[in-house]
Amino acid sequence: MDDWADIQTGDLGIIVAGFQICQHCGIVDRDRERTRIGYPCPVCGLPSPVGQTYFSDTVLELIDLTHEIHTLTAEPPAESRLRDSHRAAAIIFFCTLGEVLLTHFLREIMCAMGKSAEVIQQALRDTMYARDRCNSLFPELVDASWRDALQAISADAEFDFVETFEFYLERTKQRNLVVHEGHVWSAGPETVHACLDHVWPLVSMFVALHNKYVVRELKRRGSKH
Ligand SMILES: [Zn+2]
Repeated sequence: MDDWADIQTGDLGIIVAGFQICQHCGIVDRDRERTRIGYPCPVCGLPSPVGQTYFSDTVLELIDLTHEIHTLTAEPPAESRLRDSHRAAAIIFFCTLGEVLLTHFLREIMCAMGKSAEVIQQALRDTMYARDRCNSLFPELVDASWRDALQAISADAEFDFVETFEFYLERTKQRNLVVHEGHVWSAGPETVHACLDHVWPLVSMFVALHNKYVVRELKRRGSKH
């Protein structure tokens, strides 16, 4: 099911729900065997105590909502049924998904570094916007720029994550026009399809970031996830 064509035609929420985390080394992948008690992790070799889904219900729900809007408009005659409200909703769900994933990732790095809940909360309060969290908080934590990190994880990936993130940032500008100024017509019909097409790259990007930076911190501290 890792094939991009399968992902595009499958139920994205169910596919993303298949991501499991190793409770020993913290690696995240779609190895279904991890749900089997005693299954040795292919990365660290330790036995699985029980399966643990990596993404929260909130993430899965936001993916389902984005998918639902796409489905609403997928049957012909698609464009006539694609209303301004669909476009606006697709952008809002997609941007919320990006923010939830980013916050979750940053929280995980800070947890892996052993920071207290208060320090984590304060760091997130000090950087309210996604751009600040990426350009200011992230480099403080890992000593690399956000762009360099995205380029590094893109090297072995099927997507260019720099493009994925730029797409997300562009959508946040449109989302702000919808939320703050009521410009529900600010996005073209192609935006709904483009948002759904970017869900999988966005999810893959945060899995790759997790596997590089969170796993590295866990290894440094020699702690269990
Ligand atoms: Zn492991």
